[in-house]
Amino acid sequence: MKQEKEATDKPKADNVVDLPKLTPQARARWNRIPKHGQTILLQSAWCVSCKDTTLKLKSGKMERGMLILEGTCAQCGGKVVRCVEPED
Ligand SMILES: [Zn+2]
Repeated sequence: MKQEKEATDKPKADNVVDLPKLTPQARARWNRIPKHGQTILLQSAWCVSCKDTTLKLKSGKMERGMLILEGTCAQCGGKVVRCVEPED
């Protein structure tokens, strides 16, 4: 008897979100920020056309000890970059 099973090991999630692409170092740094702090950082972004806006996080990297968050403006979709100062 031959039974062929398709590999269905893909995790199923209803609320699939587009996860931001952070480098391993940037992710580690980002994860050390408390959740409410992350929210504040994203919500206090600055857009050249909308001024105060929310950053839709797309990617992140470390640069000279600073966490650089890159994404788009939640209002106009323009590019927004947010820097997070080094921890000490
Ligand atoms: Zn904008």
